[in-house]
Formats: sequence, structure tokens, C-alpha cells
Amino acid sequence: MGEMKRTYLAVFEGIPKVKGFFSTKYGACKGSPYYNEAVLEETGLKAMQRIQPQQVHKDKIAVISERGEAPMTLPETDGMITDVPGVLLTTVHADCLPIYLFDPKKLAIGLVHAGWRGTAAGIAPKAVMGMEAAYGSSPSDIQVFIGPGISKCCFETGSEVLEVFSEKWSFAQEFSEKRGEKYYIDLKGINKRQLASLGVNASAITVSSHCTCCEQELFCSYRREGGTYLRMGAGLCLIE
Ligand SMILES: [Zn+2]
Repeated sequence: MGEMKRTYLAVFEGIPKVKGFFSTKYGACKGSPYYNEAVLEETGLKAMQRIQPQQVHKDKIAVISERGEAPMTLPETDGMITDVPGVLLTTVHADCLPIYLFDPKKLAIGLVHAGWRGTAAGIAPKAVMGMEAAYGSSPSDIQVFIGPGISKCCFETGSEVLEVFSEKWSFAQEFSEKRGEKYYIDLKGINKRQLASLGVNASAITVSSHCTCCEQELFCSYRREGGTYLRMGAGLCLIE
């Protein structure tokens, strides 16, 4: 018999009060609203209220303050925070990074979709600031998982992308490498640095080594496939 195809990777595994996942290509979905029911069954999160942002590569963070019944779609949103158990924050991905936030003291979570535009806009630090404002979270208490996504090995860009980063983030050059006329940018590293600059402990930030573009056995990739209808799902939920 062949190896079992894993449909998801667990996030914050073994940590009480929180449950997260990132689906592989075997747990990916096509068609709106891009969500794989099998993954929700397997993770035990199917009964939770699903929050589905319509991601537009910007930096809007929604604050979810109560739990409803039906899935909720949020227009023009790329990040969410909540302190309500049973609310399942979700995002969908085909190379862009999922960034998971958990404050074990205030029992609050956040999830953001960060491609290069969202990273340049600082969506991850904006979510942490949102948790400070809404829940009194201290950045030094927040645990972070920067999930699978396109990594420096594959994120080739022209100089114009690096210029966008350099205008806003003084350290951007440290996370890029020039090869010929092209630049290779480490989006995971930039997100980690942004969060550390805000007071998140570097030791509390775990960075996935998975590259969605290189690892075709496990992930689908917009860049590698020249576009794809498949989306891998990220989810994060407080559980009672
Ligand atoms: Zn790669």
C-alpha cells in the first residue's frame, strides 16, 4: 500500500486551548468558497463557525467579537483576530504565507494572509497591534507560526518589488539576494523581523521551512504551476 497522503499539517500542536492547521494539496479545494470539508472533519473543527475573508492582498484586519452559526464572509479582508472560542478563522493560499498568532495569557488568536503586498503593508504587525488594542495582549506573550509558503529559494522578483519593501522597511535589503538581474526575497524572514521589531520574542516565532513552490509532492503553487485553481486552507480556532 502507498503512503497515506496527509491532508493537513497541525499548527500549535500540543498547546492547550488552541487548534490550527494548514492543508496540503491533498486537503486543497477548488471553487468558491475554497474550503475542504474533509480537513474540517479530520481536524474536528467542522462544528465551529467559519470566518472566510475575501482576500485582496491588502492589510485590513477584522475583529470577530461574537460567534454566529452560519459561515461568515468578510469583504476585502486579509486578516482576522478574535477571543471567542468556536470561531474558526480561515484563509486560503497558493504560495502566500499564512501567519498564525496566539496569546495564551489573554486567550486571543489572529490569522493573516500575507503575500508580498500584505507583507510590504505590514499586515502581521498590524494584527498584533489589533490584539493589543482589542484584548490588551502584550506582544511579548504572543506565539507565532509563520506557515508554509513561497520561500526565498523561489520568490524571484524584479527590482520594483524590492523597492516597495525598501521604502517602508529599513531592513528589507538584508532579506534579499541579487542574482543576475533578479532578486530573491525572504518574505518569511521579513515577517519575522517585523514582528520582532514590535516586541514579539524571536524565540516565540516558529518559521516553517516548507516552500510551497519547491515541494510539489506536498503543496500546490501558483508560481510553479503558472496559476492554479487549487487553494490550500489555513485555520485557527480557540477551543474550550
Ligand atoms: Zn522554493
